[in-house]
Amino acid sequence: MSQQPTASHFINGAYVEDTSGTPIQVIFPATGEVIATVYAATPQIVDQAIEAARAAQKQWAKMSGTERGRVLRRAADIMRERNHELSVLETYDTGKPLQETLVADATSGADALEYFGGLAATLTGEHIPLGEDWVYTVREPLGVCVGIGAWNYPTQIACWKGAPALACGNAMIFKPSETTPLCALKVAEILIEAGLPAGLYNVVQGLGDVGASLVTDPRVDKVSLTGSVPTGRKVYSAAAAGMKHVTMELGGKSPLIVFDDADLDNAVGGAINGNFYASGQVCSNGTRVFVQKGIKDAFLKRLAERMQSAVIGDPLDEATNFGPMVSASQMDIVKGYIAKGLDEGARLVAGGGQLERDGFYLEPTVFADVTDDMTIAREEIFGPVMAVLDFEDEAEVIARANATDFGLSAGVFTRDLSRAHRVIGALEAGSCFINSYNDAPVEAPFGGVKASGVGRENSKEAIQHYSQVKSVYVRMGDVEAAF
Ligand code: NDP
Repeated sequence: MSQQPTASHFINGAYVEDTSGTPIQVIFPATGEVIATVYAATPQIVDQAIEAARAAQKQWAKMSGTERGRVLRRAADIMRERNHELSVLETYDTGKPLQETLVADATSGADALEYFGGLAATLTGEHIPLGEDWVYTVREPLGVCVGIGAWNYPTQIACWKGAPALACGNAMIFKPSETTPLCALKVAEILIEAGLPAGLYNVVQGLGDVGASLVTDPRVDKVSLTGSVPTGRKVYSAAAAGMKHVTMELGGKSPLIVFDDADLDNAVGGAINGNFYASGQVCSNGTRVFVQKGIKDAFLKRLAERMQSAVIGDPLDEATNFGPMVSASQMDIVKGYIAKGLDEGARLVAGGGQLERDGFYLEPTVFADVTDDMTIAREEIFGPVMAVLDFEDEAEVIARANATDFGLSAGVFTRDLSRAHRVIGALEAGSCFINSYNDAPVEAPFGGVKASGVGRENSKEAIQHYSQVKSVYVRMGDVEAAF
């Protein structure tokens, strides 16, 4: 593997090793081979990272937005120049096909660095006239921000959290998922090379306990988690106890609704993107595919035809468009859901099995005739399992689509534009799509409602979550007092 990180942690501008922490083996999901070992952060390492971040942040906040932005934009350029090697590393870390990682990971991270680099100089306050007197506001950084990542997009998540945090004048400590610890280290390396002062972007490895120790530390001002709803509940309540700012990007069970009048191939394409990209390990996936009865047979037939062109194999081969699951344990979880689907009476129309080869490969799987009460229609599976449900009319499908605790994403395929906007308007979800699915440009806010989260990543919205406003009342005349 090219350009592997040289130690477990990145603190105060340099790699740091401490082999007294618990070893964490990094496994290439396509073969099951151990490709690296990192060591979980000890309390001393966590302390070192927090102190480095605190020391560096004050000076960074004093720099102009233009200067801060220049560093981020330089980092974006370096990431794009090294896209190939970063994509190879992402593929080793996650198992996602190189065909995907070349266009969706370091490139998306670079977009975030470029976008927030551009925004940094525009972060100003307001002038509020009050007759003779006036109020002005100042947008200030929060201080030390902690980012905790899931394993599906390790480079992207490290940048989606780091770029807005740094643009606003904060320092960041990022803890990657223990399953994919390598990529965030390269992000830290690139930021330093781009001129980021030491201490502003630190990476510490570890399991949930390391994340928890960061979240509860009184020196930390903000926590941004990408993870599951159960972890989100724990992290949110721990952060609340310390009155910290939070962003929670959590799981989903999103509806993708296909009306009879939809363009068939676009709807099938949307369902494929929304269920099988990254082997289905995408939080915003449209895993409940509601198909109106009149188009159901044609939809399933066309889906089956297009699934014939899935190329399942070595993710390092650019011809492969469907790779392994991230880990043996995730594969076992998904196999459990497939078994439940069969037990509860869903009709298996494609896939359903594990491939007979090394690594953690499952077939892309489709169940039809799924009903709302089945486990595979209610719980987040986080694997390549599409559930197709039938519906008759608009009001019915809106009610059923909303009958979930989750609210991350939703999509509608129809040629009727009024209906598209009406239905999207009625769906309880944060990130929605009309005649498309799973696009995530940095310019668009991303995040969920209900149990799927709090706050938004990307776009100008993210600035609200990495900064706070100071308001200053200025009196021009004399102070009147009661006595
Ligand atoms: P987890 O919730 O298991 O873990 C997320 C991160 O939190 C990991 O780094 C984990 O460490 C850490 N963690 C676990 N327990 C604690 C704790 N008590 N305090 C602090 N940190 C903790 O999620 P997965 O990694 O399994 O990722 C899959 C989930 O992420 C899915 O539910 C998916 O929907 C969601 N997700 C959401 C996205 C969004 O933007 N809305 C995007 C991508 C994924 P460790 O792994 O070492 O245990």
